[in-house]
Amino acid sequence: MEEIIVFIFGLILGSFANLIIFRLHTGEKILFARSKCLNCRKTLKWFELIPVASFIFQKGRCRNCETRLSLQYPAVELLSGLLFLFIWLKFLTYSPEFFFSLAFWFFLLLASIYDLKHQILPEEFILSALILAISAKFFFFKDIFFPSFATGFAIFAFFVLLWFITKKQGIGFGDAKMALALGIFLGFPKAVFGLIFSFWLGALVGIYLILFKKAGMKTPIPFGPFLFLGNFIAFILNLPVVF
Ligand SMILES: [Zn+2]
Repeated sequence: MEEIIVFIFGLILGSFANLIIFRLHTGEKILFARSKCLNCRKTLKWFELIPVASFIFQKGRCRNCETRLSLQYPAVELLSGLLFLFIWLKFLTYSPEFFFSLAFWFFLLLASIYDLKHQILPEEFILSALILAISAKFFFFKDIFFPSFATGFAIFAFFVLLWFITKKQGIGFGDAKMALALGIFLGFPKAVFGLIFSFWLGALVGIYLILFKKAGMKTPIPFGPFLFLGNFIAFILNLPVVF
């Protein structure tokens, strides 16, 4: 039962994530504005805003003008629901650590999806995640507070180095900051496993895209989503944390 509640909560916040990502890009106010169809500008009713279900019942089209709706909406809702579900399955209790983890990964999900769409990791999301990572260590893991900072900064330095080597084309400075937040949050050696998983995932997808000619060697592929997924896998797995 708890699984279903947490999953639905994740779906609803996923719907909110779509809104935040869209409005951060257009500069509209995040709250206090009703959602509209992007094509006909008709204000959406409450039953057109139900995560995933509305999309399925409306067969992916606006009820008024029948324009196709982006698959991004249900996809992000579903991803957010699954994210919440996996985090719940790790903690199985409404502990402060559980809520900190939800918030931390939710901000990084926002950042990753924004990165996929617009090739930039927004400062707002990354800084929020960084503050959450520092607070989580401070409140719950005081004994490993400084060592986890060392892990974070070592990974950060590695990314800044990559940023210079790739002449600021491949890895961005945003990736370095996101890696810092992840390094502090996961600690050693989890964050190192997370990093390795991220590079494996990135390489796999890169090879796939080039083999199937969906991208050339020079096509910029955002790294944020890989950092997110690789580290989330390391987070969920029962790997030991030394510091
Ligand atoms: Zn419409």
